[in-house]
Amino acid sequence: MRRKLGNIALYALAILFLGYHLFPIGAGISSKVADQTSAKTTIKSLTDSAQCVASDSAYDRLTYGNPLTDPLYTTLPYKDPAQLPVSGTNLVKNTGFKTIDPETKLPTSWDTSQVGNNNGKFSLTAGPLGTTAARVEVTQYKDGDAKWVTEAMPVKPGEFYRFETQYRTSAYTYALVDFSYADGSHNYVILQPVHPSGSSWQTYRTSFVVPANVVTMSVSQVIDQAGILDSTGYKLVKEPLPKFNRGLVSLNFDDGWRSIYENGLPLFEKYDIKTTQYIISGVLDQPAYMTPKMIDEFEAKGHEIGSHTMQHEDLATTNDENAKKTLAGSRATLSHFYDWRVRNFAPPYGHYSDSVKNYVQQCYESMRGTETGFNTAEYDRYDLKVMNIELTTKPEEVATAVRFARDHKLWLVLVYHEVDSKSESAYAANLADLEKHIKTIKDEQVQVVTMAEGLAETLPQLKR
Ligand SMILES: [Zn+2]
Repeated sequence: MRRKLGNIALYALAILFLGYHLFPIGAGISSKVADQTSAKTTIKSLTDSAQCVASDSAYDRLTYGNPLTDPLYTTLPYKDPAQLPVSGTNLVKNTGFKTIDPETKLPTSWDTSQVGNNNGKFSLTAGPLGTTAARVEVTQYKDGDAKWVTEAMPVKPGEFYRFETQYRTSAYTYALVDFSYADGSHNYVILQPVHPSGSSWQTYRTSFVVPANVVTMSVSQVIDQAGILDSTGYKLVKEPLPKFNRGLVSLNFDDGWRSIYENGLPLFEKYDIKTTQYIISGVLDQPAYMTPKMIDEFEAKGHEIGSHTMQHEDLATTNDENAKKTLAGSRATLSHFYDWRVRNFAPPYGHYSDSVKNYVQQCYESMRGTETGFNTAEYDRYDLKVMNIELTTKPEEVATAVRFARDHKLWLVLVYHEVDSKSESAYAANLADLEKHIKTIKDEQVQVVTMAEGLAETLPQLKR
């Protein structure tokens, strides 16, 4: 499953970062600033005092700038689509777990799934307001997961579904769609993390598009750590796909690796492609990363610079004070000190908490995560979906996604890291493959936009 793969890559990345921090090499920091000591003092004072406020003068230079004052955002205030109720014909059968099969003793139309080394146990319990809920409890966990799964249902590519559950959990869990193909293969897509709710019942809502070539799907809420997850009131409702006026593709590069400059930039120039570079503000003096001068060149050539925190902090586990500091501090450093037009944010590992998401809204115009999916005309601009490009991603998979975005008028965001055929990172992209991706985008005549351009075009088209 992607989640497992992601974790492995995450650890690899963490080791890489640790490595660079243990053995920093004193490369020249910036052509703009000759004196490294004074540069570091300035950056420190910027980050120590950084806050995201409407009067921030760094925004004055921006085309459309501060989300607190810019007309594009004040006339289209942020609405979290997850707040809107889901209504219509429910495709989940026996959603209240009331009907029990006399032979299997399980609720009809439901299945249990326990995979790997854990002792996931299944039972029924009291739900909210006199309902019945399905419980999965894990007390010993090593790997794998446990979940109640709906019956598989036939679906068609391009169909749009809203999904809702009531849940109560002590753990970090997530909702999952199992898409299956005619050849029997599966694609497990994590919809959105579901954070611990304590003892109170919460409503979880999201929406998704069925990707190319899928024939059936089932949905579940999954636990993959020790804890208890109760869920009920499953709703799955099909609605017309919310489309934009045209399909869009964005190329995002995370972390600011030097290989993006050395190997990627010549390709972007050759094909006239503008990317968004999510930069870690605190590593620009390290040899694996781009120097400020290299990033200047990206911006001068029309690419967008976004923030990826100060030190690649994991915002799901860091405390709120540190999260605020790295969100405001990276923005202050990148915009005030280096003079880049930073508007958009991507959290390291795609991790964040509810409070972090709220604070990101005060600092940035969007947040792009790492969860798989197409962005429809109902997207949550503080939870933009992506396709993660890994070393093993086949160019044909990218081509299929690009054509799908064009044909269904959706926004596809491709996320890359290093551009280095020799890298051992699972998240590196092969240079020849990257060129194939770009060629496909050009051949299929899909518009390429930076995140800022994509938001400016699509925000006025949002359906709700
Ligand atoms: Zn990163």
